[in-house]
Amino acid sequence: MNEWDKIIGQENAKAVLQSAAANDHTSHAYILDGETGSGKKSLAGLFAKTLQCEEGGTVPCGKCTSCIQAESRNHPDIIYVTGQKEGTIGVDDVRDRVVNDAWIRPYSGRYKIYIVDQADTMTVQAQNALLKTLEEPPAYVVLMLLTNNALKLLPTIVSRSMTVRLHALDDKAVYNYLKKELGLNSERAEVITALSRGNIGRARALSENEEFWRLKEEALRLVKNAQSLPVADLLLAVKDLKEKKEDIEEFFNMLTLWYRDALMVKTTGDRERISFREETAAVCETAGKKSYEQLNRLILRIEDTRKKLRENVSFDIVMELLLLEIKGQENKLQ
Ligand SMILES: [Zn+2]
Repeated sequence: MNEWDKIIGQENAKAVLQSAAANDHTSHAYILDGETGSGKKSLAGLFAKTLQCEEGGTVPCGKCTSCIQAESRNHPDIIYVTGQKEGTIGVDDVRDRVVNDAWIRPYSGRYKIYIVDQADTMTVQAQNALLKTLEEPPAYVVLMLLTNNALKLLPTIVSRSMTVRLHALDDKAVYNYLKKELGLNSERAEVITALSRGNIGRARALSENEEFWRLKEEALRLVKNAQSLPVADLLLAVKDLKEKKEDIEEFFNMLTLWYRDALMVKTTGDRERISFREETAAVCETAGKKSYEQLNRLILRIEDTRKKLRENVSFDIVMELLLLEIKGQENKLQ
């Protein structure tokens, strides 16, 4: 398996970049457009490594000095452009790292490759400065602009670049990756596949997050037992969840997935498609006990809770209301 094959999916993007490398016919600027976790950095890094490999060709040899430097991010002609200030790439950053640097010939490689991650965080002035390089690029310059929001790039930049879009993977590819490459068991692989929605980076991050599994247990305990749990226990659960606030989105994702599973079983009767495979009986029980309206309402309520927390409404209040709704006693507090 060569390095390009190791990047899961993104066949179109890989084809565009590999054929550019094969024909030595690169564009001076590429925009890699895809959501966070879709593999932009891996692709840009591999493209740069391929272009610089001393052996040439479409697959880096992995052995030459250039490949080894690229691998350890020490290649003098592969420049990672970041901002001095967190979260923004300013005009000085672009001038120092790109515009003024691009005129200096490559140190050892055939190209000078600039990789700008989160290129959409470039200020307008920074983007205007970059245009200078894009308008008259030295022959050896290749710019890689990575973004999850190409709309934030100036049209003049977009029109001078080749846009390569990254797409969500199908569930089967993610599932196979989790099982075969990361060695997850079927149950974990199913749940993560459902929650990562074709995003390989997110799938990998979830698989490594132990807190995520603890939250899953807690979410399942609550959805399965809420009806019989005393209110005092639910309040305790809220207190507990408050300590895991950073990962609370995952808790909500889990709840939503549960009620989606239930809704799906209720609508189609198809138990095979349940994401919580090991919990099939319990999902069916939820589907049996709740009406369509209740299930839909719960899903909406979870979304609403997320939104309220983002708006900084009191954690305790919104979470208590949510758990009471899950318990089926939402009216008691109203
Ligand atoms: Zn090489």
